[in-house]
Amino acid sequence: MEEITIHEFEFALINEFFTELERQGPGSSEETIRALGFIGNLSNKTKIADLGCGSGAQTMVLAQNTEAAITALDLYAGSIDKLNATAGKLGLQNRVKGIVGSMDHLPFQNDEFDLIWSEGAIANIGFEKGLNHWKDFLKKDGYIAITYESWFTDERPAEIEKWWVDAVPEMDTIGHNISIMQKTGYIPVAAFTLPESCWIDNYFIPQKARQEEFLKKHAGNKTVEDMITFMRREADLYSKYKQYYGYVFYIGKKM
Ligand code: SAM
Repeated sequence: MEEITIHEFEFALINEFFTELERQGPGSSEETIRALGFIGNLSNKTKIADLGCGSGAQTMVLAQNTEAAITALDLYAGSIDKLNATAGKLGLQNRVKGIVGSMDHLPFQNDEFDLIWSEGAIANIGFEKGLNHWKDFLKKDGYIAITYESWFTDERPAEIEKWWVDAVPEMDTIGHNISIMQKTGYIPVAAFTLPESCWIDNYFIPQKARQEEFLKKHAGNKTVEDMITFMRREADLYSKYKQYYGYVFYIGKKM
């Protein structure tokens, strides 16, 4: 049987599913704070862009652990509405602004930001393409901090290789990704892998109840059934093959 790929689902449906969850990708507050620890010269003058921010779990962590002004951008308006509402509830609306836009066509000025952040999103436009495009919007000596799907080994079983090549054709090893950072004009500062809890406790487990609810809400909708089948398979494959891949936080400084 042909395996279904993520590209076959409607963007809006995926976002409708995920916006109700606290996170839309693997990650955690602890790991966001850990990555933030590598960034120098943070002050109340710092400007941060958070790209592919989703409903803003990491945006709020950045806001609560810096004095920076943050512009958070996502293609999905529903996530941006939720992000702006959360910023308001937390009293952060003066420093956190969510806007709708695309990561591959940023509506910013050259050299506008001190830090570009992006968790679990750069694969949507491509790792190398994203690093190249985003660099223009960073000041010299500005930082980039991104999480990206990465292979931990040079070889892996065909089943998991095929799954990820379908989802993220560019996916590669940590060493290769660091060399892409260098090639695109960043000095590597740090790279560390996200712990399994970021996937299991913060991503797969919260999906379970939402999957049941979503199947009920969209009863008889074949696209929704296929999407949930895809998500369950993603979780099964992770538990089977997690020693071969994961998210890696890459932190670099613009040359
Ligand atoms: N950063 C959030 C997190 O870790 O919870 C969300 C990560 S989610 C896996 C990927 C996000 O990228 C989604 O919110 C999606 O709407 C957004 N996205 C996909 N393509 C995009 C594009 N071209 N421009 C901006 N955002 C995009």
